Amino acid sequence: SAHARKPLRGFWKLNPQTKEEALTFASGIASAITDSTPDVDVALFVPYVFIESTMSVVGGKLSVGAEGVVPHSSGAYTGGISTSMIKSVGVDWVLAGHSERREIFGETDYYINAQCLKILDEGMSVMLCIGESLAEFEADLAGSVCATQLKKGLKGVRKEDLDRVAIAYEPVWAIGTGEVATPEIAQSVHAKCRDILAGMYDQETANMIRILYGGSVTPDSIDDLMAMPDIDGALVGGASLDIKNFGMNWVKS
Ligand code: PEP
Repeated sequence: SAHARKPLRGFWKLNPQTKEEALTFASGIASAITDSTPDVDVALFVPYVFIESTMSVVGGKLSVGAEGVVPHSSGAYTGGISTSMIKSVGVDWVLAGHSERREIFGETDYYINAQCLKILDEGMSVMLCIGESLAEFEADLAGSVCATQLKKGLKGVRKEDLDRVAIAYEPVWAIGTGEVATPEIAQSVHAKCRDILAGMYDQETANMIRILYGGSVTPDSIDDLMAMPDIDGALVGGASLDIKNFGMNWVKS
């Protein structure tokens, strides 16, 4: 299909336990990105406390994102981090809807939608994560679960803001399990998601939106995934913790 979707690689779960670890890791990543690295967008999603120091060592070579946000502007939300707070330190990207936030922290589609709207209102970009559980996958419900999560998550998002939206399809059964989805399974859900987006907006808009695959992506699986027409990048957890993986040729063929 003819499109101009620049591949996006999203990495997260930086996982360092200390600021020293975070900075060593971030500077290693920055130096792994050289002039010969393919021209793809890279966003590193970082725990709040390390955001500013990470930015200072990556030198603009990649975007630094936050792992989440509360959808409130101010008030009695002790412990919450607002969009204006992270925007003020220079964050470009924010994750929303990760399955761990949905499951462990009880975030609903309604709450995730409020986050998406707030992130976009603030002028930042959002990566909305969607994906079905193992039971849903086995019941052949992947497409319908993703359709619901997309429709609810993006409710009220204006068409003109969609150039700041990326979708990450992350089947829950594939996250951190080593069970990467086959390229064919991932492609079929990505195509379905693009159809849903075309129905919500229009085909041209849907063709522009980047849909990333996430779930046990490694150097061994990335090329076959990226060869699929509707897979526009990867959201990588575990494998992103190995600095040498950042120098890889993860480009769309
Ligand atoms: C994730 O946690 O969203 C993820 C994709 O992790 P992993 O790559 O380790 O499966």
